[in-house]
Amino acid sequence: MESRPLAHRGQPRRQPTRRRFTLSHEFKHVLDHPFIKVIYNDLGKNAAERERQIEQLCDYFAGCLLMPRNWLKRAWSNGVQDQAALAAMFNVSEAAMAVRLQQIGLGPVL
Ligand SMILES: [Zn+2]
Repeated sequence: MESRPLAHRGQPRRQPTRRRFTLSHEFKHVLDHPFIKVIYNDLGKNAAERERQIEQLCDYFAGCLLMPRNWLKRAWSNGVQDQAALAAMFNVSEAAMAVRLQQIGLGPVL
């Protein structure tokens, strides 16, 4: 049994957009927790790399949950192609929107 906490705790208060992202990220940890021995077993060359990849997976999940590809592409094709406007539309930070746009091929390569 791992002693790792189920979710991150004690984080300082953040902006609502950041809290939504953090909550979505933590939701992924909760969803995956019963299956971590199976689904994360082959990740990384060592524990540190595995943890980093798990965090990236949870970030990716949060991005997908808050900024669904189809909704974002629809907004983009309807002419909303400004990062700040899209961030406001999806109630996420501009940083999160920048990453998501890059993931689905609508933003500059980071
Ligand atoms: Zn995490």
